[in-house]
Amino acid sequence: MKTTLLLTALLASIACANDLGYTDTPIIPGTKWHVHDSGRPQPTVITPGAPSTQEKVGTAPSDAVALFGGADLSKWKSGNAEAKWKIENGEMVVSGGGDLQTKDEFGPDFQLHLEWTAPVPAKGKGQGRGNSGVFLFGRYEIQILDNFENQTYPDGQATAIYGYMPPQVNASRKPGEWQTYDILFEAPRFKEGKLEKPAVVTVLHNGIVTQNRTVLIGGTPHKAVGTYQAHGEKGPIRLQDHGNPIRFRNIWIREMKIPSPEDVGSGPVLGK
Ligand code: MG
Repeated sequence: MKTTLLLTALLASIACANDLGYTDTPIIPGTKWHVHDSGRPQPTVITPGAPSTQEKVGTAPSDAVALFGGADLSKWKSGNAEAKWKIENGEMVVSGGGDLQTKDEFGPDFQLHLEWTAPVPAKGKGQGRGNSGVFLFGRYEIQILDNFENQTYPDGQATAIYGYMPPQVNASRKPGEWQTYDILFEAPRFKEGKLEKPAVVTVLHNGIVTQNRTVLIGGTPHKAVGTYQAHGEKGPIRLQDHGNPIRFRNIWIREMKIPSPEDVGSGPVLGK
């Protein structure tokens, strides 16, 4: 009995040591890391925010920039003037004065979270009902639209890349219910004014994937095919004033890494 206990304790201590990693395991091809490498940097510890419910607004993760937490519009401007939208019940309401744009710029690659709700009762139809939009880098529009039982052209639906790519499904909630957008954006890269790598975007609408690593054709104009205009590695987030009183809450953004070639290595061996 005593021997069994000792053996168990010994095995437990070995397992514990192994939890810190190894240096005698194979190298992951093309990288400098062993499998379960003890020397690999530990991921940064962050505190995730509280999730929102329909009744209660959540909070931003600890490493995010809160763009709107309910108190003020200090992170936003309208053109070069102060942001003019109203705040009611800790919610930001599209209420004239034009689009809002962040004072700061973000990029190149980021995760953006926002929550919005369309007016009740619903007014208008098609693109005229609960229209807004979130423009990444101030120029790539992910459509915001009250798309609940409201037909419109597919590439103008909620979470469409406007004028280019419809969402995979219509995951809209009723007007008056809060909806979430989670957007993973990989900015395009330019070299000497020429496109080197196009933008790539993934969008979750109410937790449902509606754009999965969609490669953007360019900007998102109305009734025209988008093209790329070279820009820097950072840009603002812009919210559209389309004349409909969309409400926003809990908007935050955080940097996102694209794994480096050194981290990814040479990848899988194909055909085996
Ligand atoms: Mg729009």
